[in-house]
Amino acid sequence: MRILLIGPPGAGKGTQAVRLASYLSIEHISTGDLFREHIDQGTELGQSARPHMRAGLLVPDEVTIGVIEERLARPDTERGFLLDGFPRNLAQAEALDGILADSQLPLDAVLVLEIPEARVVRRIAGRRLCRRDREHVFHVDHSPPEVAGACDVCGGELYQRDDDREATVRKRLEVYRSETAPVVEHYQAQGLVTAISALGHVQEVLDRALVAIGHGQVDTSGTSSC
Ligand code: ADP
Ligand code: AMP
Repeated sequence: MRILLIGPPGAGKGTQAVRLASYLSIEHISTGDLFREHIDQGTELGQSARPHMRAGLLVPDEVTIGVIEERLARPDTERGFLLDGFPRNLAQAEALDGILADSQLPLDAVLVLEIPEARVVRRIAGRRLCRRDREHVFHVDHSPPEVAGACDVCGGELYQRDDDREATVRKRLEVYRSETAPVVEHYQAQGLVTAISALGHVQEVLDRALVAIGHGQVDTSGTSSC
């Protein structure tokens, strides 16, 4: 399957993407993670992305589209992929449409995670990532690690992203409203969008996502206070 996961920062895209990709045996591709990897490795691309990320702005399209083009050209994406955090504006959506049309690999679904802004601010404030594997995501209140500051999966050090400070988060939400929301309309016009609530426990959101893509049971459980 080829799936896009869209939602405001902190909605739980990464959390769900890891689980969905593992369940469907497809590649999880997060542009944010790819940029952070470049930054940690000190590459030129990382250096050019960093100031934009720190300011809560989008990394320029020519850089971002190039990264995705290169990633989608790798053979491991042949069995499918889940894009998390791309496309984030209309130019990126159009570029992706072109890449997929060229390879005759249409999208199967676009999942949109919906959540009130007040909730994402709380989720982001408590987010902690593992330095060894960025896919291991924790929350100080909602999914705390067993040992404070250490990853449950691999023991790596947990850290807070430097763009997860409140002022930057406000900027990122503004960018989501102005630049990314039109991407949802773009795919609505193609009949691909299913919006699901991102509220409730991780497993409840996952159940909704699986139903939305034609797998799993209908989730009848309520939401939690997360
Ligand atoms: P995104 O990739 O959309 O920015 P993340 O998946 O990193 O969001 O989630 C942001 C924070 O919220 C993380 O700390 C994560 O552990 C937490 N989180 C994710 N899903 C839920 C949920 N359903 N309930 C409570 N907290 C959640
Ligand atoms: P994320 O990890 O998805 O929250 O992304 C973190 C930051 O990386 C964003 O605030 C942007 O600065 C940058 N970024 C990630 N994906 C994209 C994208 N598709 N286009 C431009 N910038 C991006």
